[in-house]
Amino acid sequence: MSVSSVFPQLEQLLPRVSKPIQYVGGELGAVVKDWDATVVRWALMYPDAYEVGLPNQGVQILYEVLNEQPDVLAERTYAVWPDLEALMKENGVPQFTVDAHRPVKAFDVFGISFATELGYTNLLSALDLAGIPLNSADRTEEHPVVLAGGHASFNPEPIADFIDAAVLGDGEEAVLEITGIIREWKAEGCPGGRDELLLRLARTESIYVPRFYDVDYLPDGRIQRVVPNRPDVPFRVAKRTTMDLDAWPYPKKPLVPLAETVHERYAVEIFRGCTRGCRFCQAGMITRPVRERSITTVGQMVQQGLEFSGFNEVGLLSLSSADHSEIGDMCSGLAEQYADTNVSLSLPSTRVDAFNIDLAQELSRNGRRTGLTFAPEGGSERIRKVINKMVTKEDLIRTVVTAYSNGWRQVKLYFMCGLPSETDEDVLEIADMAHEVIRAGREAAGTKDIRCTVSIGGFVPKPHTPFQWAKMDTPEVIDGRLKMLKQAINSDRSLGRAIGFRYHDGEPSLIEGLLSRGDRRVGQVIRRVWEKGGRFDGWSEHFSYARWIEACAEVLPDFGVDLDWYTTREREELEVLPWDHLDSGLDKDWLWQDWQDSMSEFEQDDCRWTPCFDCGVCPSMDTEIQIGPTGKKLLPLTPVNNLRVPA
Ligand code: SF4
Repeated sequence: MSVSSVFPQLEQLLPRVSKPIQYVGGELGAVVKDWDATVVRWALMYPDAYEVGLPNQGVQILYEVLNEQPDVLAERTYAVWPDLEALMKENGVPQFTVDAHRPVKAFDVFGISFATELGYTNLLSALDLAGIPLNSADRTEEHPVVLAGGHASFNPEPIADFIDAAVLGDGEEAVLEITGIIREWKAEGCPGGRDELLLRLARTESIYVPRFYDVDYLPDGRIQRVVPNRPDVPFRVAKRTTMDLDAWPYPKKPLVPLAETVHERYAVEIFRGCTRGCRFCQAGMITRPVRERSITTVGQMVQQGLEFSGFNEVGLLSLSSADHSEIGDMCSGLAEQYADTNVSLSLPSTRVDAFNIDLAQELSRNGRRTGLTFAPEGGSERIRKVINKMVTKEDLIRTVVTAYSNGWRQVKLYFMCGLPSETDEDVLEIADMAHEVIRAGREAAGTKDIRCTVSIGGFVPKPHTPFQWAKMDTPEVIDGRLKMLKQAINSDRSLGRAIGFRYHDGEPSLIEGLLSRGDRRVGQVIRRVWEKGGRFDGWSEHFSYARWIEACAEVLPDFGVDLDWYTTREREELEVLPWDHLDSGLDKDWLWQDWQDSMSEFEQDDCRWTPCFDCGVCPSMDTEIQIGPTGKKLLPLTPVNNLRVPA
């Protein structure tokens, strides 16, 4: 049965809301297919506003992979702002896709990609607006399968009641397999209904269906065990790993937004995974091993992506782009290729060494010299050993001085506050470092006109990292340290004036900590917060700490636990963690050892360049590190005419 567009009703509401253009669709790259000519239909959501959600690579890749299948249709939906949400409720307009404005409820799958746990309340808003019961248990065959993916679904327990299933790891192949299962089940006449479909998904062993697992608790609130309640689902659900990135050169047709978004560029992922072993970094841990895209494929993707989109900015993305084994050739090849055009190239430069400056020089040959960003993460040498960020203050000063003497005027430094074992002194060293950067920079540049921005984020212990056992500091401690740091930076007015200071206060981090390491009981807190009006918790203007505290106080005492129990409590070695049945490939004993090593300030090498230290991923996932050099050069590409700078 065909499904009609809700646009006629929506259109009448748009003049009454902010940024209405974000709801109209029609972007270059958008796909609208004939509903009736397709068999399996996906609504893909990034649970944040359009401006943040549209550039999301994960959603763009899956959107394209799915739409390339002739009998499959995929459309996008984003979180609607509270102004439109209120009007939609008032006027009975359901959550819709921006492509053809079809109601999300009509699709077979409602797939949500979570990059951060602070998006959980937006999931509930979308389900509610869509007319899909919030609890998976209340859904019937007429509702889509609600499927979570993305980094934040490596511990989907806090949202276990609200989702039907979660995919762990890379999505490209997973979405096609899921599509195949649904196609077959539908062709057979949907035998066994929703339960049978979910069972078929769970049997793939890499799709987690929470309802097929029971959680038992100990009297003190800790988890005793998580066990399957069906004989034919796996005890542990394993992540997926796409091994040959060259075989998946997406996005080929990037979406070009109509409204303003946070990134407007063609982004190409040059490799996936990271083995540097920063102990706080969940992305690095759960995406192991390293898999490089070849320089040839990167060149082709950039050419096609720019030709299609008309973007004039290219981002070479990964968790640590300067680590690609052929990054030097890649940057010089692309810089050469796009010399004399208005195309600017960038790579997130977080590695603190002079090599980065060479690359940045190469990339900025044809014009734009934007700020450089480095991430020492910890202020003192000691804390950098704890987190395994192997960089010395001398390295940093040398790199920054090279940047200033090569013409850069603005350098950004990223740090974290609240790291395990951190003291006031560790944080105060950030001020010394920033002062020295300005002093050395002024000398090298021969001018006082240089700036450095110190940006501080709150540390959140994440599942599947060596810090998964760590306690968090309270917001009071974090905020106290940040205040001291600010005073220390400004203690020397002449230097302090050249230093910008940005920080996140401790409260949202604590809530992110609750959601990251929470278990199924936290789901009721999320629901209570949402009922009290919680939306867009990743946005400081919408986030309300008081609302979360209130909801925790209402819900958690019934379970004999509280917010502190989840956040400021250190876990013991043998405690069953809520995500232990979800397999990222990392060996739990290895993670524990790395946690112990961190407390003795013992560093761990990068297994790309040293022998394997047996973290467990490669043997258990049957994968291997894939690095070049491929020996291949960039193709002799022809610059795109319309991107040339007019003479
Ligand atoms: S198993 Fe060995 S080679 Fe593979 S990611 Fe872990 S340490 Fe590196």
